Amino acid sequence: MTPSITLNDGRTMPQLGLGVWQSPPEVTAEVVRMAVEKGYRAVDTAMIYRNEEAVGEGLRASGLADQVFLTTKLWNADQGYDRTLRAFDESLARLQVDSLDLYLIHWPTPDRNLYVETWRALVKLKAEGRAKSIGVSNFAIGHLQRVIDETGVVPAVNQIELHPRFAQAELRAFHARLGIATESWSPLGRGHMFDNPVVAKVASKHGKTAAQTVIRWHLDLGLIVIPKSVHAERLAENIDVFDFTLDADDLAALAALDVPDGRVGLDPMTFN
Ligand code: NAD
Repeated sequence: MTPSITLNDGRTMPQLGLGVWQSPPEVTAEVVRMAVEKGYRAVDTAMIYRNEEAVGEGLRASGLADQVFLTTKLWNADQGYDRTLRAFDESLARLQVDSLDLYLIHWPTPDRNLYVETWRALVKLKAEGRAKSIGVSNFAIGHLQRVIDETGVVPAVNQIELHPRFAQAELRAFHARLGIATESWSPLGRGHMFDNPVVAKVASKHGKTAAQTVIRWHLDLGLIVIPKSVHAERLAENIDVFDFTLDADDLAALAALDVPDGRVGLDPMTFN
């Protein structure tokens, strides 16, 4: 059974969920249904993934939609107070739900300079109970500090690129000080961790695969992790991680993989 993280608003969130970026709409309903059958109780989508309808369909087909923690994200072009409120309604309509467990601002896009008023719209959605928890994604320390200073509301979650080659120690420490939960995107480094000899050694010590070892690393660091797969056997593999833990030697070996240029995705300071 997946452990949960308690968020700073008192709600709980499963520590492991399914990511569906680049999961094609035509297969996503079945992937989501299968994932729930295999024990997943969280799904991470976004308006820009163009598969919200399929995610909603898969959740309904699972028969357990009310037990699955559902996250979607506001796209950059929809930032701004009124546009955010409209985009939120459109996401709910595509998902065919009345409320969301977690709504995130997808990127700060600093050049637009709209993320603070966008955050105010999320605060309103939370007050209305339609977004049960609210957070951000790809926010750096300065972006977080600004929304907190200007609105007084601390995001529950910051979803950021994070894997052993890009471990984000400084941002994680900042989150810990403020009670912001850290959620890891591209947690497997989009596959870049699989042929790494250090990962392979730790994996073989525990009789686990490289993917399971890296997912366990996130769990043992107290992070929320959302690996993506569309394959039944990998979905099963990626959730079969609750029968072992990494020890101090394993964590030290994996910590040595962290490099300043380990990023596999876009840089939030420049992506607009
Ligand atoms: P990931 O690190 O989860 O890696 C996925 C890749 O690894 C896929 O190619 C998949 O086929 C492969 N894979 C998965 N399990 C495997 C296994 N057991 N064995 C072998 N290969 C396996 O990469 P991701 O999809 O970029 O990130 C996961 C999720 O994070 C996304 O689906 C999305 O929900 C979220 N995300 C968010 C942002 C953001 O800006 N907020 C950006 C990227 C991703």
